[in-house]
Amino acid sequence: MPENVSTASPRTGSRLSTTADVLAHAIQAACAGVCVVDSSGAITAVNPAFEALLGLDASRLIGLPFSTISIQPLPESDAWLETDRRQRCYSFTGAGGKDVFAAVSTVPVRAGDGTGGWLLVAHEATDFDDHRALLREREEQLLGMFENLQELYFEVDLFGNVKVASPSALRHTGYTPDELVGMNVHRLIPDDSLTAGLAGALSAGRDRLTNQDATLRRKDETTVPVSINVALATSQNGQPIGYRGTLVDLSETRGAERDRDRIFSLSLDMLAVLDTRARIIRANPAWVQTTGYALPQLIGSRPFDRFHPLDELPAREARERLRAGALVRELRIRFRCADGAYKWFSWSITPPAAEGEVYCVVRDISNVMEAETQREALISTLKETAERLARQAAELQGLRDEAEYAASHDALTGLLNRRAWFDLATRTRPAAVTLLDLDSFKQVNDTFGHPGGDVVLIEVGKRMTGRVASRAHVGRIGGEEFGILFKNYAEAVELSHEVLDCIGGTPIALSAAEITVTASAGLAPGRRGGRSREDAVARTYEDADQALYEAKRSGRARLVLSRDLRAGARPSAA
Ligand code: GH3
Ligand code: MG
Ligand code: MG
Repeated sequence: MPENVSTASPRTGSRLSTTADVLAHAIQAACAGVCVVDSSGAITAVNPAFEALLGLDASRLIGLPFSTISIQPLPESDAWLETDRRQRCYSFTGAGGKDVFAAVSTVPVRAGDGTGGWLLVAHEATDFDDHRALLREREEQLLGMFENLQELYFEVDLFGNVKVASPSALRHTGYTPDELVGMNVHRLIPDDSLTAGLAGALSAGRDRLTNQDATLRRKDETTVPVSINVALATSQNGQPIGYRGTLVDLSETRGAERDRDRIFSLSLDMLAVLDTRARIIRANPAWVQTTGYALPQLIGSRPFDRFHPLDELPAREARERLRAGALVRELRIRFRCADGAYKWFSWSITPPAAEGEVYCVVRDISNVMEAETQREALISTLKETAERLARQAAELQGLRDEAEYAASHDALTGLLNRRAWFDLATRTRPAAVTLLDLDSFKQVNDTFGHPGGDVVLIEVGKRMTGRVASRAHVGRIGGEEFGILFKNYAEAVELSHEVLDCIGGTPIALSAAEITVTASAGLAPGRRGGRSREDAVARTYEDADQALYEAKRSGRARLVLSRDLRAGARPSAA
């Protein structure tokens, strides 16, 4: 370890006797970090400032190879004789792995045994680096702003000669910044508005002039209205050195203002600005035309006071919405006009702006509302008419159904009538047909009267349909004559017997007495072929009628099969 640096604590307050003591004391008290490294590269001494720099105690640093706290190598060992006072930036690894940057000077030292080593004096540079990066960032930001500035930024000397102009100068003046440098401001602002304004401000003790209107003469000799902000620039010791400021082109703003005023006065919609207490501050001529009030009657008045009493609730709700910062769109409210009559207005209102003002676009929709009312009335009339027509159609359909039923059914028994029975036979081509005639029915009529005979006919009809159910169709084809159309030949004979049994099996109750009736029946298989279907049905009918005649002749109350069946012929397939 080099002998000319002591690691003994100098904080004892003991008298300092030697130069070495003084030096050691100074090193302990120094704000710069001091670290001594021996010829093997191990740390042999540090002062408190170095401990603080790395955030590590001397006890943890002494004996450590220097390479564990910094990746930067120390100067070559054989260069130790050359004093290296150049500062280098070292990056150290401090407590918790934190990066510490320091500006480090290295000084060669020699120990009593002749071995060399290094004394490092380190000034922390971490913050400095941060600040420099921040400064660079700020500088770049400012530069970017300067480059992209919409306004024209300028600096002039005390005589009004341009020193600096932003790139936006070209757009505003037609001159490049370079062309402007050295040019006197009078060339650009020929009238004395600027100098007079500035003189006025300075004499009033102000060092700046804001929003000064002036006329700028561009390179192409055209003029544009501009607004200028300018402030006195001073040197570091407070001496005025010139002026700096900004200039904006007002031609667009002026144009927009002109357009706005034109739109305001020409708009067919009523436009209004209300103050914080909902009183009209501005209203356009459309208000006068639509409401009939003169402008002085409108300005200062509250639209709310002229709303229809029935519309107060929606108006209040709208006010709450505006207070909550929401936009009110197309709110329909009646407004009392100068003649006392109400007109329907549609209100669109912005929530209060920063100054508390409210902007309204109001449209007269009286015609729309009237048309809507008319349309609603028309619609309800049409609806009524449509409903009536639907009712009539339903009634008509009912009548038609009734008529259709009446045309195809027998009024007394409800069975198919003769025409419908024949139609069905023609359409469906039955496998077999049975004709059935009540026996000695005249006697029934004679004994119990025509009404008694009717009761018998009704009961017989019921018994027949009840028996065949869906397996066959029954019709009344004459006074007391019935016909059955069978779908299936195989069951026709048996079913016909069953029908006869069920007619004559139990007596029929009349008002005065009970009576048992029988019937005779003739069955024939359905014919196929022939000239037409009608023809086939007619011939089948004849066959069955013939068989019925046989039944009557052979004693009544029986079923007789048609002649060819009796002869053993098989009917054609059903
Ligand atoms: P038969 O055994 O030969 O058939 O003898 P019958 O008495 O039944 O003779 P016929 O068939 O000639 O008589 C039919 C009778 O049915 C004649 C008619 O007065 C009666 N009649 C026809 N239609 C109706 C009706 O709707 N109601 C009533 N009560 N009688 C009717
Ligand atoms: Mg009869
Ligand atoms: Mg008869």
